[in-house]
Amino acid sequence: MTEATGIVGEFLALKAETDADLLAMQCGDFYEFFDEDAETVADELDLKVSQKSSHGSSYPMAGVPVDDLTPYLTALVERGYRVAVADQHETSDGHERAITRIVTPGTLIETPDDDAQYLAAVVREGDGYGVAAADVTTGQFFVTSVDGEDREGALLTELYKFDPAEVLPGPDVRADEALLDRIRERTTATLTLHAAESFAPGRARHRVREQFGDDTTESVGIDDDEAAIRAAGAVLSYVEETGQGALASVTRLQTYSGSDHVELDATTQRNLELTETMQGDRSGSLFSTIDHTVTSAGGRLLSQWLVRPRQSRRELERRQSGVAALAEAAMAREDLREVLDGAYDLERLASRAASGSADAGDLLRVAETLALLPRSAEVIEGTDRLAESPLAEVVADADRESAADLAAELDEALADDPPSTVTQGGLFRRGYDDELDEIIEQHEAAKEWIETLDQREKGRHGITHLQVDRNKTDGYYIQVGKSEADDVPDEYEAIKTLKNSERFTIPELEEKEREILRLEEQRGELEYELFQNLRERVADRATLLQDVGRALAELDALASLATHAVRNDWTRPELVEGRDLDIRQGRHPVVEQTTSFVPNDLSMDDDRRFLIVTGPNMSGKSTYMRQAALITLLAQIGSFVPAESARVGLVDGIFTRVGALDELAQGRSTFMVEMQELSNILHSATDESLVILDEVGRGTATYDGISIAWAATEYIHNQVRAKTLFATHYHELTGLADHLDRVENVHVAADESDGDVTFLRTVRDGPTDRSYGIHVADLAGVPDPVVDRSRDVLERLREEEAIEAKGSGDGEPVQAVFDLSSGSFQQDGERTAERATADGGAAADESADDSTLDPETEAILDQLRDLDVNETPPVELLAKVQEWQAKLDGDDG
Ligand code: ADP
Repeated sequence: MTEATGIVGEFLALKAETDADLLAMQCGDFYEFFDEDAETVADELDLKVSQKSSHGSSYPMAGVPVDDLTPYLTALVERGYRVAVADQHETSDGHERAITRIVTPGTLIETPDDDAQYLAAVVREGDGYGVAAADVTTGQFFVTSVDGEDREGALLTELYKFDPAEVLPGPDVRADEALLDRIRERTTATLTLHAAESFAPGRARHRVREQFGDDTTESVGIDDDEAAIRAAGAVLSYVEETGQGALASVTRLQTYSGSDHVELDATTQRNLELTETMQGDRSGSLFSTIDHTVTSAGGRLLSQWLVRPRQSRRELERRQSGVAALAEAAMAREDLREVLDGAYDLERLASRAASGSADAGDLLRVAETLALLPRSAEVIEGTDRLAESPLAEVVADADRESAADLAAELDEALADDPPSTVTQGGLFRRGYDDELDEIIEQHEAAKEWIETLDQREKGRHGITHLQVDRNKTDGYYIQVGKSEADDVPDEYEAIKTLKNSERFTIPELEEKEREILRLEEQRGELEYELFQNLRERVADRATLLQDVGRALAELDALASLATHAVRNDWTRPELVEGRDLDIRQGRHPVVEQTTSFVPNDLSMDDDRRFLIVTGPNMSGKSTYMRQAALITLLAQIGSFVPAESARVGLVDGIFTRVGALDELAQGRSTFMVEMQELSNILHSATDESLVILDEVGRGTATYDGISIAWAATEYIHNQVRAKTLFATHYHELTGLADHLDRVENVHVAADESDGDVTFLRTVRDGPTDRSYGIHVADLAGVPDPVVDRSRDVLERLREEEAIEAKGSGDGEPVQAVFDLSSGSFQQDGERTAERATADGGAAADESADDSTLDPETEAILDQLRDLDVNETPPVELLAKVQEWQAKLDGDDG
């Protein structure tokens, strides 16, 4: 079987040309995968493998019908494969095959879901990183660069926001295995090694200019930003190389700087469960809770707002006013949502038009959706409350006239219910093109002639059982019943004998048949040409489509926020400069959906900037703190918030450090992760940030834990000065309020009578005074004897007074107490009276002034004085302190 050698050989040769993971090669009506590729595809997609023998050896083979390729490709790409497609072209002497495109996770136009789909490139440049991210399904293109002390963290944060489907690491990044690992860990992206020269500055700059125009880099302010340009150029060249024509809709380069966006690091985005829960589910996330959008573009925009909150009060108040107007004008809001409900995804349609994959139905959907712009404008302008709001600008800014023109053009051109194939005619209305009309008329006349042929023949020859019909094998024929088959005239030429009838043809009919086929072919070709022109004209207006799509999406997102606010009795927060955060009767936006929620107040300002939150396990500490973060975040996307009233001082970043269940599952040391995150917060937060710390220090031994929590509190209070909420089991820390000006205690109250705890969920000023760990052990089903015994032990310990219970769910008694005045630990029983009275500063001064110290201690004190706390990572600080303690212990003997 030489032909088999040919095909498998050809397949293997083409496969060697590409670096794609798989190759789909067209063989007539099928796309075939051979050899290992066949096995992989069959495994992934549950296809049947057959054997293709060639030269005595046999190769696995799996195929899909040509018309079904797209869903199979999509499925493979979604599993992370890059698939090359080789099409078959007819040539004068047979056919040849060549790879025409590579479909990859980041460049798939026909993506089945509504989410954004980013392809990102990352380059290292000097002290920073450049990031470019393109969504070819919508034409969005972003570039930015990050630097600073924790530039890797900043890079990962950017990537996390885009959640790219595919990442192209630049040559420098590729060399950094540790960074690649972190990218793999933090994203689900396929990492693709794209040609290193595409990242070269000169080539990249050229490519960017070619795409966006000569002055773009200057006008968007990245002309000097080599990192951003290199990343952008690499993305463009990669999309081009995959050969899917997806670039045409990418018309605008957008940069964004951190300065107007609220910094939300990747950890915080996850901790706050913005778009998915810690368990990775969408339902239960903030987004799924507040999302009432009726279009996919509206949903995408709303989720983009959530991960990119803003600092600009003007922009936020603009959105707020829109939401407020829509919240009040209930009827108009419902009307508007009904109009929007009919919208298709214009950005996506623009990309499909640009890549040449849009069919006639798609273009009709473009027209239909464009027509919704004036209809939305009507609703808005017809309602005073909305007409006065910023919503009026949203519709006014869009180019209504061009939208109407294009919609009219498409409506006039396309038939009402066009077929999905674009090569076989039937797409256009009569009157659109003279030449086409002419063909259609001739075609109809020919058909008409055939339709009346039976009558003519019956009349002429007196045959009663005669009909004219058409099928695939025989073409047009005249069928005559058996009984009359002998009566047909001479010109009837028999072509087939059936059981009860005979089929004939006549020269005239053959002639008409040829004419019809010719006309059908002409019509198909002409309509395809006309359609391509029309599609190109739509593609040329990609920007218009994107603008209108964006305006409709914004209306949808604002209407969604208004709907949620009205349904849940949310309030418009007052946005202020400065550090106030004042929430009356606040609720947690997600928890309030499923629980009868006890509202709580929160009051923070310049002088009350650091709240230590105590309370029994399960009392509601985390909920209270997350609620504060989420209300701030919602305020900074322009939303209303779950509270009776709220005054929110705008923040430049929200940082959280909470329990690390997921990292534990990934097998990383909790404590190490905890310290990395703490370190990141201490480096990145500013006095305008909001910091949420939940149980910092828990991942290590009690003393280490308390020391770190203690030091972190001091550092944030004195140096960072961020607005901070800190929940802790270390009851010892509540004493800090006495020593640090801006630190205050609050606790979540619980009522303990008859040994039972009732959670009141109410937050009150001051520290909690009891430990409820044993009760939690009881709730958790720890056997009664153990619970009872622990009550006895606790009682004894309390009686002995010198010992305090740790207050954690672990129920593990602390064997030493942390001495507030000296900031050190003392062993059981050796507490001095000093603790009750002395103040930390005085004690430290005393020892510093002591001139009788031995040289070793002097040396330690020197090191202590020289140590720059701001410049030393907490973990190192800890190590230092431990080292000094060990030395001092050694001296004391
Ligand atoms: P902690 O951090 O103190 O251990 P959590 O914040 O995890 O406690 O809350 C424990 C449980 O109490 C959660 O199931 C939460 O839904 C519920 N809860 C917390 N705060 C409230 C509240 N204000 N009203 C009603 N239920 C609450």
